[in-house]
Amino acid sequence: MMQVLEWTGPGKMRIHDAPKPTPDPGQILVQVDAVGVCGSELEAYTGASINRFPPLVLGHELCGRVVEANECQKPWEPGAPVALYPMVPCFECEFCLNENAQVCPQRKVFSIHLPGANAQFMAVDERIAYEIPETLLGPAGSLVEPFGTSIQSVKFTCLDSESSLLENIARSLVVIGAGPIGLLAMVYALYRGVSRVVAVDLVESRLDVARSLGVTDCICTRGLNPEQVGQIVREILGERKAETVIEAVGLEVTRQMAIASVGQLGRIGWLGLHTAVTSADFSHMVRQQVTSVGTYSARPSDVRDAIEALSDGALRHLDWIQSYPLTEGADVYRMLVESPDQVTKAVLRP
Ligand SMILES: [Zn+2]
Ligand SMILES: [Zn+2]
Repeated sequence: MMQVLEWTGPGKMRIHDAPKPTPDPGQILVQVDAVGVCGSELEAYTGASINRFPPLVLGHELCGRVVEANECQKPWEPGAPVALYPMVPCFECEFCLNENAQVCPQRKVFSIHLPGANAQFMAVDERIAYEIPETLLGPAGSLVEPFGTSIQSVKFTCLDSESSLLENIARSLVVIGAGPIGLLAMVYALYRGVSRVVAVDLVESRLDVARSLGVTDCICTRGLNPEQVGQIVREILGERKAETVIEAVGLEVTRQMAIASVGQLGRIGWLGLHTAVTSADFSHMVRQQVTSVGTYSARPSDVRDAIEALSDGALRHLDWIQSYPLTEGADVYRMLVESPDQVTKAVLRP
C-alpha cells in the first residue's frame, strides 16, 4: 500500500491509502522523493481550472528513485535518482520525433489526464525518466520540470539566433511575475549571459527572492498601471526599453505590462496561462515590430538542460523553497491559496 493525497473537490483534499502501482512492461516504479506544488494545481484546487476535474491526484514536478524496472530498454539500477517529464507523449508523431513532445496531440499530462505525483509511488514509461545526480534529490530535483519550462521560454525569447536581436543573446530581459517560473527564467537568463534582468512583481517579498538570486533591478507594481511600468523600464534600461520580455503570470494587466515594457524589434515570450482572452495594444506590437512567441511546458532537451544547469550551480540557493510532509499536503494547499505571499514555492515530501 502507499499514501496518496487526492484532490476531491473545490478546496478539498484527503490523504488515504491506495494500492502501490505495478509497473507494466516498459515501465519503472518510482518512489517519489519531492513534488512541487504548481500554480496551475492551486487553480485546480480552488475549482477554477478548465482542464482539471476531481477526484484527481495532483503533482507533476517531481524527482524520486527508481525502485524496480519491468522489461525496460535501459539498465535501470534500483535506487537511481530520476526526474520525470510531466507528461507521456505518443513517442511517434512528427512532434515527438522532433523533440517537441510538449505539443504532441496525444500527450497525457500528469495531474490533468493521469494521476500525478502527490503519492509515494508512480509507475511510468521509462522513456520519460531522466537520471539526475544524487545531489539533486530533494527540492532541487523537483525544480527540473519548472526550470525546463522557464528554460524553453528563455531560449525562444532571449537566445534565438534567428530572432531580430542584435546579437544571439539579448542584452536586456524584463520578467513580468516573480513566482517560481518567472524566478527560474531570471536565473537561467543570467546564467546564459543576459546582462540586464529586471524583475517585475506586485509582491515585494518575491522581488527580494529575485534579488537574492542575482537580479539587480526590480519593479514593484503596487499602484502602477502598465504605462507607468513601461516608463520605469525606460528609466532603468534606456530609451529602447527591453530587448526581450517574458510574461509569466497570464493576467490581462500583466500582459499589458509586457507590451508596455518592450522596445523596437523586441521579443515577448508568453508563458502565463491565467486568463485566456486579453485585450492588448497591438498597434504598439505592429509599429515597433515586436516578435511574439508562446512556449508551453518543456521540451525533452530543456529538461536535460535544466538538470545540467542545476548540477552546474546555476541556482544560487533554495532558501525560497519550503518543504512539508505529504501528510500535511491538504493544509499546504489551503495555506498557499489563502496567503499566497507567505511561501514562494512549496514542495511536498511523500
Ligand atoms: Zn507546473
Ligand atoms: Zn506524439
